[in-house]
Amino acid sequence: MNMQNNLPRNPTREVSIGSVAIGGGHPVVVQSMCATKTADLEATLAQVEQLATAGAGVVRIAADNRADVAAVAEIRRRTTANLSVDLQENYRLAAELAPVVDKIRYNPGHLHHHEPERPWQEKVRFLAEVAGQHGCALRVGVNCGSVDPRQREKHGHDAMAAMLASAWEHCELLDAIGFTRYCVSLKDSDPAKVVEANRRFAAERPDVPLHLGVTEAGMPPEGIVKTRLALEPLLREGIGDTLRVSLTLPSAEKSREVEAGKRILADVAAGVTHESDAAQLSRLNIVSCPSCSRVQNEAFVELAQRVREATRYAADQPLTIAVMGCRVNGPGETDDADLGLWCGPRTVNFKRRGTLLGAFSYDEIIPRLLAELDELIAQSSTGREAPG
Ligand code: SF4
Repeated sequence: MNMQNNLPRNPTREVSIGSVAIGGGHPVVVQSMCATKTADLEATLAQVEQLATAGAGVVRIAADNRADVAAVAEIRRRTTANLSVDLQENYRLAAELAPVVDKIRYNPGHLHHHEPERPWQEKVRFLAEVAGQHGCALRVGVNCGSVDPRQREKHGHDAMAAMLASAWEHCELLDAIGFTRYCVSLKDSDPAKVVEANRRFAAERPDVPLHLGVTEAGMPPEGIVKTRLALEPLLREGIGDTLRVSLTLPSAEKSREVEAGKRILADVAAGVTHESDAAQLSRLNIVSCPSCSRVQNEAFVELAQRVREATRYAADQPLTIAVMGCRVNGPGETDDADLGLWCGPRTVNFKRRGTLLGAFSYDEIIPRLLAELDELIAQSSTGREAPG
């Protein structure tokens, strides 16, 4: 193990991302992601600078269409920050993005959407080829809310096995292609699952640098507590080469993610642990995404805050409410929640234990949520589930 800032790191291979390097004994790099509309060039550039100034070694931007690509290219011209782009469905955009960014994150669970007849292996070869041509790193970003449907089908209810199998098969393919400039992330909204997934991955592939994070950790302070629960033990064990603290925050406060990441690293290096803070978490678990360019309505952060305020009376109930910004991880993440909301442009989609109840206006949704919550609480106190 190498020692850096008092933090022993596993001997992962070095991967360069612009002017920083992860793995290979380098200090853990804190990252963050813009929550602005990518095509809003000035707002996104300002947020890139805000995050980089706060200490983000890499700043990620979502890119879903040509307008986003043009904005990223212009941002590249106007900043020295190390840039990563987040690709979801349209993997082909990588050809235009690779020349202007330092890293591309792709989600194996979204590669099937675009050109579904084309095998995923060909798509990964394409990504590795354009990344290789332009000295760009890749991240295989596996997310619990959007695991590759092939792996989900194969592993049934074992979501952990599906996530790991997806990550491993992508590593194997990249290795076979001869592309080694990549890292992996395995994110879940449950800190215990993040710990397990990363430990199991690192045991199998100790050479691959890991990007750590609890996805949809929610609003601070709870989101920071949940992130610490996952990251502190992993970092102490030498697992993790870069990290992001994903927090639901108003756009202007996004740099708090970077500050939280830096504090976690400093505490772990100093031997300080905050795992006892878990006692501060209410039994009612509110999962919410950090928002990004894809958020379907600007009212999302306020909606998450309204949900937290309105449900405080149920703090001791062992239930999960998920509040998500868009359909990328919304439908998947809300499947596992007792009550799940994800934003559409004018309405909020609402699910109860995997069943879609409908779409409600931003004004109607809170009373509707509370009615369903009260019913779930009443059922658990009588010990029976309503029919239908
Ligand atoms: Fe962005 Fe949608 Fe993920 Fe929220 S759920 S962070 S809006 S992609």
